[in-house]
Amino acid sequence: MQYRSPWMTEELDAFRDQFRKFLAKDLAPHAEQWRKQKMVDRSAWLKLGEMGALVPSVPEAYGGLGGTFAYDAAIYEDMESIVPDALSGVTVSSGIVAHYILNYGSEEQKQRWLPAMARGELIGGIAMTEPGTGSDLQSVRTTAKLEGDTYVINGQKTFITNGQNADLIIVVARTGGPGAKGLSLIAMETKDNPGFKRGRNLDKIGLHASDTSELFFENAIAPKENVLGGEEGKGFVQLMQQLPQERLIIAVGAVAAMERAVKLTTDYTRERKAFGQPILEFQNTAFKLAERKTEAFIARVFVDFCIERLIAGDLDAVTASMAKWWTTQKQVETVDECLQLHGGYGYMQEYPIGRMFVDARIQKIYGGTNEVMKLLIARSL
Ligand SMILES: Cc1cc2nc3c(=O)[nH]c(=O)nc-3n(C[C@H](O)[C@H](O)[C@H](O)COP(=O)(O)OP(=O)(O)OC[C@H]3O[C@@H](n4cnc5c(N)ncnc54)[C@H](O)[C@@H]3O)c2cc1C
Repeated sequence: MQYRSPWMTEELDAFRDQFRKFLAKDLAPHAEQWRKQKMVDRSAWLKLGEMGALVPSVPEAYGGLGGTFAYDAAIYEDMESIVPDALSGVTVSSGIVAHYILNYGSEEQKQRWLPAMARGELIGGIAMTEPGTGSDLQSVRTTAKLEGDTYVINGQKTFITNGQNADLIIVVARTGGPGAKGLSLIAMETKDNPGFKRGRNLDKIGLHASDTSELFFENAIAPKENVLGGEEGKGFVQLMQQLPQERLIIAVGAVAAMERAVKLTTDYTRERKAFGQPILEFQNTAFKLAERKTEAFIARVFVDFCIERLIAGDLDAVTASMAKWWTTQKQVETVDECLQLHGGYGYMQEYPIGRMFVDARIQKIYGGTNEVMKLLIARSL
């Protein structure tokens, strides 16, 4: 059966046609180098910007394409299938940070930052996690104290995607008392900010081309007007409002990865022979792939439903949490099974399935762990 996502349009078909060729020709050949240097080159961001692929769902007035989330979904799917190495940085900067600016920034901030993000000249990061606090965001300890017209930020963050490259970081900081009501989001520019220091580019088991860092704030500064939403104490609510989109982005990547793993493994097992026949002809192999193909399709249909809900403006946190935990769980199971069907070659770096195996694992952890997703769903029972 030929299935087409209901949010696809002819205009988007034409865009994707060009975009996929661009990814294969202009970006994919550099992925190995990015993995070695543990970072995507800034020139790749500029090229993505030229293609209009960085903030497609931001209005044209701020440098975007004025599209819906369908554009983001299409771009992330294609990147996951062709050059997954560049995906996590782009989703954080374009899919998350740009939307905080769009939704809560002042007109001046939108004019200043969004067009630069669209061109790939400005890379964004979001700093929630601290060494002592991940899932329990309400316990953030980093502080931002207003001194005159300036916020002075002190504290430490860790595991921050784009940490080495980011020019603009949304810092989750405590501007008030304990608990959620004391939190604010402060947009902090990194240039000419001597109190801000980047720590190590952390050594991860996967996502080797993505820079993930510790960040230190020792009297780092941001002007008073950089508190998103214009007043203190809104940070937690703003985070909660944006989380459905962030979780859906992870699910979109998970579905594309499952489909890719099934395709790569079907091709491989059709060619590879054992006991005189292609291993795809062993019933065990064919059944495993049949099961995984079925799950990938179910995942796609559910994620398409969520994409349509998000475009309509009514994707709720519980449904987005379902999409995040289930698709990433299935992604991890699928790539494991597909690696198994590659035999020893699956364990070698040069076969993409090995990288997909290590890269998949984080999907169950970041963006809110899958346990936290189940807590949120359980509250709706
Ligand atoms: C590659 C990578 C990129 C990342 N990028 C970013 C980023 O850009 N910005 C950012 O802010 N963070 C980022 N993170 C951090 C990530 O979001 C956190 O690691 C994640 O939220 C979990 O927090 P933690 O590591 O402190 O684990 P913990 O919160 O300590 O959790 C440990 C375990 O306990 C479980 N647990 C915790 N609370 C409960 C509960 N109430 N009930 C049941 N189980 C529970 C968790 O599910 C988990 O299994 C990134 C992490 C990685 C590895």
